[in-house]
Amino acid sequence: QERTLAIIKPDAIRNLGDIVSTIYENGFTIARMRMIKLSQNEIMYFYGEHKAKDFFPRLVEFMISGPIVAIELVGSDAINRWRSIIGPTDSQKAKEQGSHLLRARFGTDGTRNALHGSDSATSAQREISFFFGSKYGT
Ligand code: ATP
Repeated sequence: QERTLAIIKPDAIRNLGDIVSTIYENGFTIARMRMIKLSQNEIMYFYGEHKAKDFFPRLVEFMISGPIVAIELVGSDAINRWRSIIGPTDSQKAKEQGSHLLRARFGTDGTRNALHGSDSATSAQREISFFFGSKYGT
């Protein structure tokens, strides 16, 4: 069993129900889940690795535009499997790859892409701690 951090971004909050259903249909369990509106500084810290990128201001503005839901997912091969269920970063590319992909279903473009998934075990641990503290949930 592996853990990863999923985020339902502000553009997909209204689809929370469908997304939670998809999570369980794919054999994950939810250890912890939290709805929160992050400050600009918190988002800048969370996405710190991207602070030099040209899209960073757009990303920060988008992520503070409304509440998000952080979800600690548990499952086999959770990190890679969750990323393959959401699809590529650019929602338009996701739409080309398959209408079942979550970013195809709920995203719009390269910034407004509905969902996040940790990209490695190190990122997952850092991101889970960011939202929930270091102590693991059930
Ligand atoms: P996430 O980390 O949210 O799962 P990702 O790993 O697919 O996405 P990253 O490269 O880590 O993509 O970028 C983080 C976020 O920054 C993306 O999810 C997207 O919202 C935004 N982003 C990334 N690349 C671009 C881009 N070229 N143009 C606009 N926004 C972008």
